[in-house]
Amino acid sequence: MTFFKYHNGILHAERVPLPVIADAVGTPVHVYSAGALRHTANRFMAALRHLPAARFAFAVKANPNTAVLRLLADCGYGADIVSGGELRRALDAGMAPSGIVFSGVGKTDRELTDALDAGIGQFNLELEEEGHVLARLAESRGVRAPAVLRVNPDIDGGTHAKISTGKRENKFGVAITEAPDMFDRLARLDGLDLHGIALHIGSQLADLKPLEAAYRRVGELVFALRSRGHAITRVDLGGGLGIPYRSGDAMPSFDDYGAMVSRVTEQWSVGLTFEPGRVIAGLAGLLMTRVIWVKPGVAHPFVIVDAGMNDLARPALYDAFHRFAAVTPNGDTMVANIAGPVCETGDTFGMAQTVDLVRRGDLAVFHATGAYGAAMASSYNCRPLSPQVLVDGDTFAVVGDRILPAELAA
Ligand SMILES: *Cc1c(COP(=O)(O)O)cnc(C)c1O
Repeated sequence: MTFFKYHNGILHAERVPLPVIADAVGTPVHVYSAGALRHTANRFMAALRHLPAARFAFAVKANPNTAVLRLLADCGYGADIVSGGELRRALDAGMAPSGIVFSGVGKTDRELTDALDAGIGQFNLELEEEGHVLARLAESRGVRAPAVLRVNPDIDGGTHAKISTGKRENKFGVAITEAPDMFDRLARLDGLDLHGIALHIGSQLADLKPLEAAYRRVGELVFALRSRGHAITRVDLGGGLGIPYRSGDAMPSFDDYGAMVSRVTEQWSVGLTFEPGRVIAGLAGLLMTRVIWVKPGVAHPFVIVDAGMNDLARPALYDAFHRFAAVTPNGDTMVANIAGPVCETGDTFGMAQTVDLVRRGDLAVFHATGAYGAAMASSYNCRPLSPQVLVDGDTFAVVGDRILPAELAA
């Protein structure tokens, strides 16, 4: 189901024609569909709600826009955060502290303290020493920090190397083989309420098999820890499900994922936590841009648009693909290289692509930019941070202002 469709030859976000947004707000602009966010958030929950004591923590890093977080909070989501800044965003969006999970491999003492003072629901420990430090900070405040230990199951998620997190050589989690002894030591600390395990093996996973293998390893660990006398009441299964960026991409359905999780975790007797990011927000957003030039090239022309790698970093970072389409296509196509204005050869969104014919001044979009789009924006080349717009039915609101370089730094 898509909330971005052509009506009378004009691409709309829900019932708002995109040129109306371009006229009002300018380009480049990130456009989100509230309907798409709600629809997907509800469907993800529905596929997993039958699982015992399921909790849902949206991975804020995928889309930290406050209006987006508020909408997801209304759908019953908490937040998976990785920094003090994301803690602020989640609280500002009205998320209950008890629904906040703090992941992240490098939490500072300041961040741990702020999260303790906010009373968040779960700390995901990334190394043994973090557990000792957190326990001390909690004790000095007269509280016990609710915590789980993140393990690295040494499973290759089969995704791009830069978004793989579950292999032994990645920086995340503690080696699953060392987890039992470490758990023994950490569970003794008065300042910790250590009650579970977390994992997250990577992002944009296209196949459930590596996830299932990782979950099974964690299941064995749950029983090993119980046999050592630990009460294990929660397992955090992380996020990572992929979305179709290309029209032909086949991705696991939420129902297939739910069925796999049911099958694997049936005997665990724990509450489960999910940390989806991309699957909730990815397809709910697009980046609208205007063609500055169609510049002749050696084999194909370059379509130079006013959105750059500073607005959408994924193609430059991960060779990611975002489908390019005209807002008012005339039915003709062209073979072109799509590029931004930033002074980097890597500021290219695709080479030798067959796309809608566009000319100087035309509006176009990059699809599926709702996750890791605006979230990764920078002001490189002294470019503004682009505005963000949330469409809901036939109305839209600017939910993120354009921020000019002059406002950012000297
Ligand atoms: C990034 C991240 C997520 C979300 O990943 P998606 O692929 O966007 O679902 C969840 N948990 C942790 C710990 C993460 O680092």
